[in-house]
Amino acid sequence: MKLAENFLDIVRKSRYAVVLTGAGVSVESGVPTFRGKDGLWSKYDPDEYATKEAFERDPVKVWRWLAMGIELILKVEPNMAHIAIAELESLGYVKSVITQNIDNLHQKAGSKNVIEVHGNTLRLRCTACSYREIINMVPNNIPPYCPKCDAMLRPDVVLFGEALPYEEWDRAVDETSKADVYIVVGTSGVVMPAAMLPLIAKGKGAFIIEINPEVTSITRIVDLYIDKKAGEFFSEVMELLSS
Ligand code: NAD
Ligand code: ZN
Repeated sequence: MKLAENFLDIVRKSRYAVVLTGAGVSVESGVPTFRGKDGLWSKYDPDEYATKEAFERDPVKVWRWLAMGIELILKVEPNMAHIAIAELESLGYVKSVITQNIDNLHQKAGSKNVIEVHGNTLRLRCTACSYREIINMVPNNIPPYCPKCDAMLRPDVVLFGEALPYEEWDRAVDETSKADVYIVVGTSGVVMPAAMLPLIAKGKGAFIIEINPEVTSITRIVDLYIDKKAGEFFSEVMELLSS
């Protein structure tokens, strides 16, 4: 409990706390990371499925893989980490959540100011026109086609080798630069350019907190390292908030 008390004390005294999350925050919801040893996605080589080139080479193969991800994400629920982060935002301490995840779980937990630098798998976009669509089921036909122009639709996510959505990235850098407390949860810090964000925060003098059961490439620059699973740690934070 000591660490959770210390964490909450720092967050309560902050002027502008910002959270950055990666795949690790959703592990306890049942969504595996890319780099973990087990789980659905680790069986598939990201080079063969999650790259711009793979999609250009064989969109249907990539679509089928993404459809499995959509199916999983429609079934999972936020865990205590997503819930506590949303609660800290509603209390006015956390100003924004920058996520590399595409699983919609921060929004499902009630976070309002979420910046999705890698998109959202429950949103489709047309590969040719500006058509967008929110989905709540796996499309019946893979791949689906645009009702406006007949071109192929695809999940609105960033594949490896693709540029990040300009506006989201800009907002992420802006929020990061404003932070005096920067909370990094469950990210390995190797996926560029998102991995640069903690360095930007550090450069601006923010106090950096990391929550991750494994040491990462970010750990060496943090001011407080919390060696715990996100869901477990944030359960303690929630307990303190409700006591
Ligand atoms: P990553 O897979 O590279 O790293 C995950 C990190 O989470 C690791 O450092 C690991 O130690 C940590 N972790 C594992 N279990 C944890 C737990 N219970 N609590 C806290 N931390 C835990 O993830 P990444 O750095 O986010 O990069 C992979 C990219 O792939 C992401 O940017 C994302 O776009 C995508 N991705 C998204 C999802 C999702 O939407 N949930 C899942 C997998 C991959
Ligand atoms: Zn279209």
